[in-house]
Amino acid sequence: MIINEFEIINNYFNHFKKKDKYIMKGIGDDCAILKIPKNKFLSVSTDTLVEGIHFLKTINPIDLSYKALAVNLSDLAAMGADPKWLTLSITMPYINLKWIKYFSKNFIKLIYKNKMKLIGGDTTKGPLSITISAYGLIPKGKALFRNGAKVGDLIYVTGTLGNSAAGLELLTKKISITDKKIYNFLIKKHLRPVPRILQGKILRNIATSAIDISDGLIMDLNHILNASKCGATLNLDNFPISKKLKNNFFKKKWINWALYCGEDYELCFTIPKKQKKKLDELMKFSDVPYTHIGNITPFKKGYQLLEFKKPIKLKKIGFNHFF
Ligand code: ADP
Ligand code: MG
Repeated sequence: MIINEFEIINNYFNHFKKKDKYIMKGIGDDCAILKIPKNKFLSVSTDTLVEGIHFLKTINPIDLSYKALAVNLSDLAAMGADPKWLTLSITMPYINLKWIKYFSKNFIKLIYKNKMKLIGGDTTKGPLSITISAYGLIPKGKALFRNGAKVGDLIYVTGTLGNSAAGLELLTKKISITDKKIYNFLIKKHLRPVPRILQGKILRNIATSAIDISDGLIMDLNHILNASKCGATLNLDNFPISKKLKNNFFKKKWINWALYCGEDYELCFTIPKKQKKKLDELMKFSDVPYTHIGNITPFKKGYQLLEFKKPIKLKKIGFNHFF
């Protein structure tokens, strides 16, 4: 059966025909047209995932659909945005209808689950890659930026750190573990990260800065420090590391995963000290743990990591897809 681009779009992706007060035009014309409410700002984020670079060749289409959406929504979450719409560009080497069917079915399901709508995209031939642009709304004046951290602020992270990196090392057989349950838990943390959307929305009201952890805590917090012209002291004693990592792998390993390896897609954020009580109150609405890992210091104090109050040397940071 020969199937063309238009049939792929119509058969697998054109699911969002129901009326929506914001969408004047969705899939099917040259552009989508959106109406933006007066009291809101539109936030836009784009991410490309390329086979062999951002995901393993062995990934199945369902896991890929999870990951592609999650990494985009994680960026919206880090700004405090409410995800609303998205476009999807698929580049694939040939038409594999079975692959498209699995990918699209799960992708559409996830979009509905997130109360979003697919408003367009592109379908082309080439090495497998997925580009998603996600659009969200933020009440005016409430967006979370990287440059708002102030000396004395408390630094927090949501969830736990390092599980995703351990999952990746398991998938690539750099490490192994016999316990199937733990294996599956860590693999899932890598393949199906959960964007912290609710937490981002909660933080709109208190955080001075926020970022999602895609390249590793040290690297991503460094973006906040550079943008805010501040330093930071972190206490390794307080780091949220799962028991599954602590009980099954050497400390050297899990420290490295938690600090320097990416793709946890947790939020790292700062709040003024006096907002701690409010944070605790608001976070009651979320079932994700959050941990105070350090404090913002003056720029000249630099980036400091302490364990049992003693300084530990930080590795040189810099993850770069081009090298
Ligand atoms: P154009 O040639 O004007 O770029 P296309 O033929 O690429 O138009 O796309 C036709 C319509 O289908 C457009 O509305 C586009 O946004 C949408 N579209 C294309 N590919 C996808 C996709 N993978 N998912 C969702 N919508 C898509
Ligand atoms: Mg096109």
